[in-house]
Amino acid sequence: MHLSRFPRLHLAHLPTPLEHMPRLSKELGTDIWIKRDDCTGMSTGGNKTRKLEFLMAEAEAQGADVVMTQGATQSNHARQTAAFAAKLGMDCHILLEDRTGYNNANYNTNGNVLLDHLHGATTEKFPGGHDMVAEMERAAEMLRAEGRKVYVIPGGGSNPTGALGYVNCAMELLGQVNDRGLKVDRIVHATGSSGTQAGLVTGLCAMNANIPLLGIGTRAPQPKQEQMVYDLAVKTAEKLGCPGVVRREDVAANTDYVGEGYGLPTEAGIEAIRIFAELEGILLDPVYSAKGASGLIDLARKGEFKDQRVVFLHTGGAVGLFGYDFAFDHADRWVNV
Ligand SMILES: *Cc1c(COP(=O)(O)O)cnc(C)c1O
Repeated sequence: MHLSRFPRLHLAHLPTPLEHMPRLSKELGTDIWIKRDDCTGMSTGGNKTRKLEFLMAEAEAQGADVVMTQGATQSNHARQTAAFAAKLGMDCHILLEDRTGYNNANYNTNGNVLLDHLHGATTEKFPGGHDMVAEMERAAEMLRAEGRKVYVIPGGGSNPTGALGYVNCAMELLGQVNDRGLKVDRIVHATGSSGTQAGLVTGLCAMNANIPLLGIGTRAPQPKQEQMVYDLAVKTAEKLGCPGVVRREDVAANTDYVGEGYGLPTEAGIEAIRIFAELEGILLDPVYSAKGASGLIDLARKGEFKDQRVVFLHTGGAVGLFGYDFAFDHADRWVNV
């Protein structure tokens, strides 16, 4: 795959490390490695950096002077888009949807929201369930009427251009495991707006890697999640010039770990955050990576990965912890010796 045919900004810190997790592996009885896409750079990193390398290059090529996107209040994608816009000298306007109903001060002003504003982005808030796609078009038209050149990025940066970032990740990861002689049986990660999984599955299929990929859902029910990933993978493969490489059965999502809904922490996710933090010194976030890790942990405990080597793709998001401090009870860590 010849990714240099597509405009791209080289701003991510790549390759991201592939690390062993010996203490977690021992705990779960499965050999678990972690691909550190929480370390991609640009405002603390995360999976949106790889997508934005391609999206923001397209924005620049089109002569955009303002970029717009949308997401949940604690959107990592919004924060990283704001950082890219700052780097390129573009304005950034973000539409935030209240998907949780939380009125805690930290949820609404700390974590990703604080960083959006520090990068100079403007934000606008909408109630949950609002038609954010229509809202973004309306706002973009307003700016265009003022003579601005607007580049609109869909939620999560999930379109064929953004998914190229995860085709790139699939190539990078396969190179790393081949160089080290590591045979990988499964790749697991949190899936949401679907660009990460769609790009990975397209890249893996195009290279004929034969490594099953499992997305752990964070929002949609399984049929919808898998269909979203598949539809985007089909378009991504077409863009890449290898139409038809992804088959429907290559797309697998397990949505048993969503809990009560998007952005609402689960008990298993909070446990996953503690386990990764205490055994490996790695920070997860309650919205995505912790739900992904809670699926990894539960399936490992149930023997799903018996005698396998699993790579967990860490998609980032730890900045969100500072908006979710209320979800953690850590008073017992204050002690008198
Ligand atoms: C956006 C995001 C995801 C989900 O990735 P998609 O490409 O939207 O499916 C996972 N983890 C984190 C931390 C994210 O910010």
